[in-house]
Amino acid sequence: MKWTTLPLLALVGVGCTDTDPPSVSPLSSEEIAGLRFSREEEKLARDVYGDLTASGPIFSNIQTSEQRHFDAIGGLLVAYGLDNPAERLTAGEFKDPELAALYQDLVQRGAPGGLSALGVGCTIEELDLHDLATAQMTVAHPDLETVYDNLALGSRNHLRAFYGNLTAGGGSYTPIWLDQATFDAIVTTPKEQGGN
Ligand code: MN
Ligand code: MN
Repeated sequence: MKWTTLPLLALVGVGCTDTDPPSVSPLSSEEIAGLRFSREEEKLARDVYGDLTASGPIFSNIQTSEQRHFDAIGGLLVAYGLDNPAERLTAGEFKDPELAALYQDLVQRGAPGGLSALGVGCTIEELDLHDLATAQMTVAHPDLETVYDNLALGSRNHLRAFYGNLTAGGGSYTPIWLDQATFDAIVTTPKEQGGN
């Protein structure tokens, strides 16, 4: 989505020196924007799945994981002394207007339950993976990289779970955000260990 509009300036000029360890050097503006957006995108997943819990235990299970992802990004915002606007938003509220609109759209599309809800799960997870990959391109701090890697691992496993349930139920899904080869490489491989 909006990542495509971000300049890739953080690929250069955000280095760390011997006297300035990575955990202490300030975040770049791209890293800060990435954290704020990721924070709300994890909230989007958590809130949509929270609205779809009547569609099966997979939604409440993965919602719990999204809360941990949301908290992990929140922990980084706190650690770097950054404002944390999502903290003050209730379920379904978003500061980012694109995510606010996406929330409404996804909840509406998932409302019939069943395969519709599982398809919404696939859409959220592939969008997360797409946006995480873009955010990771501008990250220079190892503690951010670790959290993003962990979130991506979780998203791959969530995608496998949603897609597996969808196809087991006779449904099919065409990726929107990931190319087909990337999508297939995830859903045809086993669940990964680790992450949360
Ligand atoms: Mn997540
Ligand atoms: Mn997820």
